[in-house]
Amino acid sequence: MSKRVVCKFGGSSVADTEQFKKIKNIINSDSKRKIIVVSAPGKRNSKETKLTDLFYSTYDLATKGVDISGPWSLICERYLEITKELGLKTEINGDLLKLEKQLRETPDEVTSDYLVSRGEFLCARIMAEYLEAEFVDSYPLIKFDSRYRVLDQSYQDIRESLSDDSKIYVVPGFYGSDTKGNLKTFTRGGSDITGAILAKACDAEVYENWTDVSGLLMADPRIVDNARPMAYVSYREIRELSYSGASVLHDEAIAPCRDKDIKINIRNTNFPEDSGTMIGPEPEGAKQVITGIAGRTAFSMIHIEKSMMNKERGFGRKVLGILENHNLSYEHSPTGIDSMSIVLDSKSFADVEDDVLEDIRLEMNPDSIKVIDNLALIATVGHGMAHKVGVAAKLFGALAEEKINVRVIDQGSSELNIIIGIDENDYEKSIKAIYKAFVD
Ligand code: ASP
Repeated sequence: MSKRVVCKFGGSSVADTEQFKKIKNIINSDSKRKIIVVSAPGKRNSKETKLTDLFYSTYDLATKGVDISGPWSLICERYLEITKELGLKTEINGDLLKLEKQLRETPDEVTSDYLVSRGEFLCARIMAEYLEAEFVDSYPLIKFDSRYRVLDQSYQDIRESLSDDSKIYVVPGFYGSDTKGNLKTFTRGGSDITGAILAKACDAEVYENWTDVSGLLMADPRIVDNARPMAYVSYREIRELSYSGASVLHDEAIAPCRDKDIKINIRNTNFPEDSGTMIGPEPEGAKQVITGIAGRTAFSMIHIEKSMMNKERGFGRKVLGILENHNLSYEHSPTGIDSMSIVLDSKSFADVEDDVLEDIRLEMNPDSIKVIDNLALIATVGHGMAHKVGVAAKLFGALAEEKINVRVIDQGSSELNIIIGIDENDYEKSIKAIYKAFVD
């Protein structure tokens, strides 16, 4: 059996009839494109709301006993418009009426996950009829444990359910079921995960993730004009870049593909001729020094000083334990002989800041403790940096030239990235400076 291609189409790719037509052309242009995953229809313009969000609002209203007509009518309009314009027979209206009755009469029997999953369920039904393909529901197909790990049996079931390679299958993204049979959705953007699971189960040739951009850019285009596209990025690099702020693909979509070395191709439904970005195993001998730059703002840093800190066993563990007690995770922790800093997300820290500082004072008895807010973190990522002399010098030289003061420096031993912490006011300037030094 020749290998097939799994294609996932995101919300903007299924937003209206025109998009459905583009998808048909894409599927017809390559006979290997046999397994299709769809999201719920997204916005057609910036003023609209994605159907998933309308389903969430409907659920909120229904459980509060408030009239659901506002969001519900928008949901119905969108689906009915698509089916009508495509001239389809699918009994979507019946499904919608049944769901509405349940929501109005017995809202307690409808779970939020179930209701929201209808976004992709209905879209997949419409797509299956339009493509003359077979609809396969994800509910009985994708089963996971309480930590959202897909059961081995499920991979087997997927393989069997999608085994006929002469057929095209359409599967709704974003949900599956737990071992008790409850329908469960993934976190937002989770249709990416569905596609990755199917790609792994069917040992796909490639997992195409169709969206509205022609791949990833080396830096945020809102900051760097004409940022260059990335033709190839490794699984590890993409993890670093998306963790640091580049939003592309759900981060849990990487692991299933990486397990089988299946490449992920980010493609543009509106420009299918563009080859997009390929995400795959580490390349042999990376040609360019850096692959991309990403960053985020709104970090805080707790800075603790205590003389002879280095002799005090368990100091770091206890401080991190205090953070854990307050349910905080941290990003980085640069240390000196008598000092320790912890960089963490300002938003989650703000709620418990006073309590955390008080606990550190009581338990650690530091000489001083202060908090620095308004930090930005920037990650410069690339396998090409490893064992290369002068990369850090070039990066810090570029920042120095722009008179940017670096407050935190972190380079992992993998030499895959260099992370710097700077004042938020210098954020854009820093990204531009690094880009110019390495790319332009
Ligand atoms: N519809 C879901 C969301 O909006 C899942 C997805 O689109 O991937 O998050």
